[in-house]
Amino acid sequence: MKKVVLTGDRPTGPLHIGHYVGSLQKRVQLQDSGEYEQFVMIADLQALTDNADNPQKIKDNIIEVMLDYLAVGLDPNKTTFLLQSQIPALYELPMFYANLVTVSRLQRNPTIKNEIKLRNFENNLPVGFMTYPISQAADITAFRAKYVPVGIDQLPMLEQTREIVNSFNRIYKTDILVEPEAILPDKEVCYRFVGTDGNTKMSKSLGNCIYLKDSEETIRKKIMGMYTDPNHIRVEDPGKTENNPVFIYLEAFAKDSDFEKYLPEYKNLDELKAHYERGGLGDVVVKKFLNSIVQDLLRPIRERREILEQNKSEILEILRKGTEYSIEYTNETLEKVKDAIGLGYLNINLNNK
Ligand code: ATP
Ligand code: MG
Repeated sequence: MKKVVLTGDRPTGPLHIGHYVGSLQKRVQLQDSGEYEQFVMIADLQALTDNADNPQKIKDNIIEVMLDYLAVGLDPNKTTFLLQSQIPALYELPMFYANLVTVSRLQRNPTIKNEIKLRNFENNLPVGFMTYPISQAADITAFRAKYVPVGIDQLPMLEQTREIVNSFNRIYKTDILVEPEAILPDKEVCYRFVGTDGNTKMSKSLGNCIYLKDSEETIRKKIMGMYTDPNHIRVEDPGKTENNPVFIYLEAFAKDSDFEKYLPEYKNLDELKAHYERGGLGDVVVKKFLNSIVQDLLRPIRERREILEQNKSEILEILRKGTEYSIEYTNETLEKVKDAIGLGYLNINLNNK
């Protein structure tokens, strides 16, 4: 049997280049290797945990995320897409897992801690938000996923999932739950891709994103307005490339062939960096170069997306079919989980519900 890969995204907005370098690129690679069974989930339940008062926003973004998936090259013939809220096992499993996690363990989860601070929840923290790592453990284990291609912000979630898996298998003397592993991006700068404002994470919630669907002009404006080294004021000043988002983006995207095409005075990024650091190289030149590269990357994605947008009903049909398959797939795990706990009291068959 092929090993299973699962990932998901919250439908809180269209996807951005942080998603692309952090996870989407890897998903396409895993899909095309033909070695895995891959599921990609639109995490609308999780999106509701901090958007309960705005379900319309979540609904509107489901199609946006699907368009982004297909535009970057995820292929419904090779990858199963599913909508989290329609899958009963994903509601039921957290009920069992919640008993295996302490409140203090959840409170120590660094990603949750960070996200609570970011959202200024203070005394208004929804229980559902606090417990979403448990729901995420249900998503991963329901699909018996071995690999989860994600950015580094997700490592604490995977750690929490592994703990749940181990507790479950030990307490109920079984081996049905699979311990998942993260697959991080190839390049370290992509682990947590910075925002255009220099903030440590590009995130829909922070408004510092370049979206996959942005127009040519929007991309240009965002790049030309990017944060760089604040002490690099005049062209002749020496500049810092470390922690400089423009250079971080170049690290992620620039190939030697881009230098040949757009900036033949330099052979590679090392030469460009060296010039910036010794002074005499202006931000505008570097930003224009970055703009050319990002435009080349996003143009075909945007063009594919525009075509796909003409066929929204077909795309929802892809999601519906994948979700139906996923219901069956995850019910198998759910049944085994209930059996392991010993809950099969009345012998009710889930698939005849
Ligand atoms: P939100 O602000 O609603 O949480 P988000 O932009 O953080 O949205 P998610 O849907 O939470 O996006 O993340 C989906 C996936 O994309 C996760 O695997 C996450 O690790 C990855 N990801 C998101 N942002 C980045 C980033 N800036 N760098 C690397 N990976 C990222
Ligand atoms: Mg997030």
